[in-house]
Amino acid sequence: RTSLTRLGGAGTGPRTGRVPVGIGSRRQRIVITGGAGFVGSHLVDKLLARGDDVIVIDNFFTGRKANLVHLFGNPRFELIRHDVVEPILLEVDQIYHLACPASPVHYKYNPVKTIISFSLTLFFNFHLSSFTNVMGTLNMLGLAKRIGARFLLTSTSEVYGDPLEHPQKETYWGNVNPIGERSCYDEGKRTAETLAMDYHRGAGVEVRIARIFNTYGPRMCLDDGRVVSNFVAQAIRKQPLTVYGDGKQTRSFQYVSDLVNGLVALMESEHVGPFNLGNPGEFTMLELAQVVKETIDSSATIEYRPNTADDPHMRKPDISKAKELLNWEPKVPLREGLPLMVNDFRNRILNEDEGKGM
Ligand code: NAD
Ligand code: UDP
Ligand code: UDP
Repeated sequence: RTSLTRLGGAGTGPRTGRVPVGIGSRRQRIVITGGAGFVGSHLVDKLLARGDDVIVIDNFFTGRKANLVHLFGNPRFELIRHDVVEPILLEVDQIYHLACPASPVHYKYNPVKTIISFSLTLFFNFHLSSFTNVMGTLNMLGLAKRIGARFLLTSTSEVYGDPLEHPQKETYWGNVNPIGERSCYDEGKRTAETLAMDYHRGAGVEVRIARIFNTYGPRMCLDDGRVVSNFVAQAIRKQPLTVYGDGKQTRSFQYVSDLVNGLVALMESEHVGPFNLGNPGEFTMLELAQVVKETIDSSATIEYRPNTADDPHMRKPDISKAKELLNWEPKVPLREGLPLMVNDFRNRILNEDEGKGM
């Protein structure tokens, strides 16, 4: 078990009457769980560039030190190897809680831990996604309560399940199969939202809830089974693009810098949420394959594969709430964002191939 770690020093301890974040306010101390992952590492970059002190907590389940190695000499940055299903003691102003097995390959690999990183499966050998979502979120909320920190949960558009309302507004309660293969993730995040609201109402914790729609960009896991990373890696490796089902299902793809701006705007706002953070540009998987072909290799071919169970037929965020209350909207359309991840993918695939040759 991980031992409890007390960080910080003089002047730490519960805070009251905190100065709001922003220009002119003092430097914030911020924890980012899951900060070695795709989204987290971009968030770390932004907050350090703004002048904050950042502590990353990550167990490297899917995250990589390589995503943070450029920060290792920075005195305002600290990296702790720790599993959020275990308690931890820290003194900070804000907690961004991202830690979660987030891709289908990883959460299906250990579904019990995914939902509990949301609980009780701790005592058995559980489903990873559920577990991380429940226990991990509970511990971070307990931490936020003790030290008076603001807490932001990165929830997901998957809480809407296979939606019967289109586009999806935050008021929609969703259409989730509670016993399917994806449930550990969907229900885990739904439970995490419930926990966050319970700590807000019951203990006065300042919570913020973001519902993130499909996001892509540099540092995405190469082989985690998500459609953008799959297609981009396949096109670079000169393999056929694998389209699941008939390819007519839709998703709305957001570039990572837009998401990071939205997360920070939400954390600094006075609104609890939930807020949809996504790009309303909607594409079928066949259209996405076409954009990948135009961007990387026009000769790429398509191979059809059976679709996965309970796959949502369509997904598109209604972002009017975030536009109005957070003054946020995405700026990078898919055709501009995709080229921005290609070099990163090429370099990593090249390194992988060289590694194999050794
Ligand atoms: P990612 O897999 O790249 O990052 C998740 C990070 O959490 C990894 O660094 C991993 O090692 C870490 N982690 C997992 N379990 C942990 C544990 N028990 N203790 C400590 N660290 C742990 O995924 P991402 O795409 O960067 O996702 C970040 C967050 O955003 C997740 O909560 C995810 O559910 C949410 N989200 C992402 C998307 C997307 O399209 N990328 C969409 C919706 C929601
Ligand atoms: N917790 C933590 N760090 C803290 C405070 C709490 O990890 O600084 C964990 C704690 O171990 C517990 C969870 O957060 O598992 C919920 O804490 P809370 O105080 O809300 O509940 P309690 O411990 O009273 O059940
Ligand atoms: N998908 C696909 N080919 C792939 C991987 C995924 O056609 O190689 C499809 C998948 O069936 C789903 C969509 O792309 O309909 C988005 O899948 P992803 O796992 O990226 O995101 P999510 O389903 O969580 O929105």
